[in-house]
Amino acid sequence: MTYSETETDGYVFKWLYARVIEWAKENLRSFPWRNTSDPYKIFLAETLLKRTTATAAVRIYNDLINKYPDISTLASASVKDLNYLLRPLGLYKQRSELLIKSARYIVEKMGGKFPYNIDDLVKVPGIGLYTASAISSFAFRKPVPTVDSNVIRVLRRFLDKPSLNVKIAMNLLSSVIEEKNGSEFNLGIIDLGGTICKPTNPNCNFCPIREKCSFYLNNINKNVI
Ligand code: SF4
Repeated sequence: MTYSETETDGYVFKWLYARVIEWAKENLRSFPWRNTSDPYKIFLAETLLKRTTATAAVRIYNDLINKYPDISTLASASVKDLNYLLRPLGLYKQRSELLIKSARYIVEKMGGKFPYNIDDLVKVPGIGLYTASAISSFAFRKPVPTVDSNVIRVLRRFLDKPSLNVKIAMNLLSSVIEEKNGSEFNLGIIDLGGTICKPTNPNCNFCPIREKCSFYLNNINKNVI
């Protein structure tokens, strides 16, 4: 089965949204950057999480917050000190330079405050669409989708649309996301992709959205699940 455009515009996405939020209440992973609504801390976490595991990022995140507790201290950091701290993560030179560049831009051009909307956030050097969405959703609780590779994978399988990309996913999810629980949904679908709908061997039998998932319904009788 494959969903039509009318279905993805309407009830299927509303159903998916509700199911993921329900699942998220009991199943979200716990990370230190999920206990805060401070945009600075979320920005740091998202920068560390690029191309690395959450486990590796946790250790550096705590050290980084202790040494540079706010955007001003990061803006005055030396690249050498930051390199030393970030070295275990890899890509440390790029990360250090970008962190300092972003921090200086926010301090010098934005009065030291993170803007809450995506259009302004992506103007900051080093902040791309995903990080901007994460800051907007997790810090300011704006109703914007956070579409990473986990979310893309879940939606491609759920809809049986292998060509689905970030832009399409953003459009589809924007039509259902709500201010009151958008960040719970975003965390839920990210974690669903990270823990159940994994790149290989998706664990469909434990998946809360399997009853309407195209991949599951198309394969249930073929002994591949
Ligand atoms: S049912 Fe399987 S393929 Fe579909 S979203 Fe869940 S884990 Fe992924």
